[in-house]
Amino acid sequence: MRLAKPAGFRDTVRFTINYHGRITQGRGLYFFPAEPGRPRHHQQVYSGGGTDGNPNWIPTYGAPNDKATWDLIARVPAGLTVVSNGRLVSDKVDPPARRSRASPPAGSRTHTVHWRQERPASTYLISLAAAPFKKVSDRWRDVPLDYYVYPEDVARARRLFGVTPDMMETFTRLTGVKYPWDGYSQTTVTDFIGGMENVGATTLVDWLPDAQAYRDRPWYRHSLIPHELAHQWFGNLVTAENWSNYWLNEGMAEFMAGQYWGFRNGPHAEDDFYLDEYRRFLASDSRRRVPLASFNSNNVYTKGALVMRMLKQHLGPEPFWASINRYLTRHSFGNANSDDLRRAVLHATGQNLDWFWDQWVYNAGYPELAVSPEYDSVAATLTLTVRQTQLDVAPADSAGPRFSTPSVFQGRILVRVGTSSGEVRKQVRLDRREQVIRVEGLRSEPNMVVFDENNAMLKVLTFEQPTRWLAHQLSRDSNLWNRSWVIDQLARRSGDTLAASALSRAARSADYYLTRAQAVAALRGFPAGIALPAVEASLRDSSAAVRETAVTTLGLLGGARAQAAVREAWKRDSSYEVRASALTALARLDSVASRPQVLAALSTPSYRDVIQTAAIGAAARAPDSTLIDGLEKIIGEQKLPSLVLATLASRGDTQALAALVRHRDDSRSWVRRWVLDAIEEQLQGKDLE
Ligand SMILES: [Zn+2]
Repeated sequence: MRLAKPAGFRDTVRFTINYHGRITQGRGLYFFPAEPGRPRHHQQVYSGGGTDGNPNWIPTYGAPNDKATWDLIARVPAGLTVVSNGRLVSDKVDPPARRSRASPPAGSRTHTVHWRQERPASTYLISLAAAPFKKVSDRWRDVPLDYYVYPEDVARARRLFGVTPDMMETFTRLTGVKYPWDGYSQTTVTDFIGGMENVGATTLVDWLPDAQAYRDRPWYRHSLIPHELAHQWFGNLVTAENWSNYWLNEGMAEFMAGQYWGFRNGPHAEDDFYLDEYRRFLASDSRRRVPLASFNSNNVYTKGALVMRMLKQHLGPEPFWASINRYLTRHSFGNANSDDLRRAVLHATGQNLDWFWDQWVYNAGYPELAVSPEYDSVAATLTLTVRQTQLDVAPADSAGPRFSTPSVFQGRILVRVGTSSGEVRKQVRLDRREQVIRVEGLRSEPNMVVFDENNAMLKVLTFEQPTRWLAHQLSRDSNLWNRSWVIDQLARRSGDTLAASALSRAARSADYYLTRAQAVAALRGFPAGIALPAVEASLRDSSAAVRETAVTTLGLLGGARAQAAVREAWKRDSSYEVRASALTALARLDSVASRPQVLAALSTPSYRDVIQTAAIGAAARAPDSTLIDGLEKIIGEQKLPSLVLATLASRGDTQALAALVRHRDDSRSWVRRWVLDAIEEQLQGKDLE
């Protein structure tokens, strides 16, 4: 580009870029033809591809600090609704089109829709979605909320997205920053990668739960909706200045979702949310260890949320939210990096948390603590020797940088010691590779030692304890994470009747479903005679997650009694997930006797086809001619039957092969596609697990 005259430093130069192009399907824009006869596959187009899709169809460079305002004008067929960012400026029916190369077929009507984003936002958040949507209108304070869904999903949309006003109110109160955009739309489209927080106009996958699916706590409402909404503050109002600080978008959004449930349903619900993050973080860290703030970090969601949780515990809620408010207001409509968040804390609280940022944000890993106890009855003192055993063994990765795990992590924790004559708590600062903690003033021998009572430190704990301490803790510790740790310890003591009775009691009567479910799962390693009563009783639990665990555990325990109980659950349970797991358990217990149930399950509708999918799995593991017939009947409902048939055919099953050949020329385009894909994958040696 040549300028008419040379531009000087600080000059402003305005450009108009005229461009046109052909979009490659799936590069920034996704086009779907209508597939009549296939549920939820209407004609549509949407932008997608996460944070790097837009430069493929708009002249932007797509980096997070590329902030702009924009107008989006789209001309589409008359039956399609266009959703984009900001506010709707106009929607006009076009004059009938004359036939030309650039216009739609003569005679078909189009309309032109104009949306305008008036406050600056990052260009990776520009979005377009067009489909035969119905709009469901809602409101929070003066902010219009719109849910754009297919006509058949209108009833489901009201229930699903009806949580939005309460979430908006909660996030506004917690952060002290009102929802910052003109309106908020949530639009569901087909075959989408979960959700994308386009500014003021989130795009989501079209898996709207039916009424029965709410028994299983759908991920959609639990995680997806609050996560994408939280991005409207964290990511959209204040954006990570580059992708190495991506955790400021993703970790904060994930953290806020947990805060919503904590605010709404109390501390157990909050711990429940982050315990899941903790497990996923440990799994990803074991595959590849990188710091939170690094390019392509694999833990921006999980560790990001956990680090924010720790920060909130360290500061206390009020100073924490004051810091968050400072961060959001200081960088509104702009960008921030990890140190900007630290400075916001410094400004709001006076605390310089260099050490916290160093160990949790810029370095990798977590502390691995090994604790050993010694009780001195004469001195009435419990001595805990605490060693940090984490090793810094990460090799340089292929990109070159070598990340280090601190040899010493610092933090404040609370030790709680129970005795038959009262409890003693002691606050301790961990700051050495090895240190000794003395808890004095015990009036009798300890019967419970809780190390890090509030789980203030992200860690892995090794602490060998007598079973009676653990049993005590399981019934008296209100912290969900600690209970979960205790259950893991007890699960390994399958020869210990005290462990079995502690787990059985927790399975029946713990005050939160997750503890009950974990206790039921832990009983699977115990002798059936000891485990069965509690596991069977759990089939009547009010929580579907507990019943689901009970059914799976019964399948592993085995025996006629377990089998009868599982068959009953398959017949009568009201939860899709429980029935799906019951079917899998039945098929594992007796693949021949369970054939009628598997056949029935192949055509049993359920949310996200969990029951059908369980049946397909069972049929794949023990196929016979009736089940292969059953698979062929549902070949148009999802891709999995084609994959199973192709696998069976490649192993020499002629009936499966004949079925595939028949559907190679199926009248339904998507079935032909699935069959060809399945054959191709088989030829490439991708056997179905
Ligand atoms: Zn996100």
